[in-house]
Amino acid sequence: MGSDYVPPKYQLDAFNCPHSGCGAFAHQEWYHGVKATSGPNGGYALRVHNFSVSSCARCAGVALWEGEQMIYPRASIVLPASEDMPAEVKKDYDEARAIFYESPRGAAALLRLAIQELAIELGEDGKNLNKAIGNLVQKGLPERIQKSLDIVRVIGNNAVHPGQIVIEDNPKVAMSLFKVTNLIVDNVITKSKEVEELYNNLPEEAREQIAERDN
Ligand SMILES: [Zn+2]
Repeated sequence: MGSDYVPPKYQLDAFNCPHSGCGAFAHQEWYHGVKATSGPNGGYALRVHNFSVSSCARCAGVALWEGEQMIYPRASIVLPASEDMPAEVKKDYDEARAIFYESPRGAAALLRLAIQELAIELGEDGKNLNKAIGNLVQKGLPERIQKSLDIVRVIGNNAVHPGQIVIEDNPKVAMSLFKVTNLIVDNVITKSKEVEELYNNLPEEAREQIAERDN
């Protein structure tokens, strides 16, 4: 998913397909429910006027809408949590994923919590995200991630003060927080795990030499 992600929105001509197997930016065909059809004697009325279906031109997958709210599929387009994400962090992340469509602002607030939790897991002070970020960069976190984290910090503050950044109108901003959270896990946890694995795959002799050198 690039930064040009266009979230599904009612009546929009094209958006990123909400089906996880597709996700493509594609044209959407809209079908709207039957409106108040009266029976022959006025005896009954069929009312499904509140439902619509959008269909992806790329994969033909459909999404169901009740009013302006997408009710199926849910959350699938939001990046799943990285495999190495600590359980406590993943809990908030998954909850943010679940509410993303109803409340991008709520999702942003939860992701901020997730990132604070992540800072704690990494041995930092979760209360002072600013300081935690600085420390993590000193420990080798790439600076571009620091920038992403600074975005989190600013958005996070604003997300709990309504009227500053209207995240509801800009789900893209909330969406980027999912990426940032995964980026930190990838860079701090997954990468060091990989290095560790590579190191352990070295011949024992080589590892002994390295240990001797470091003594
Ligand atoms: Zn599709």
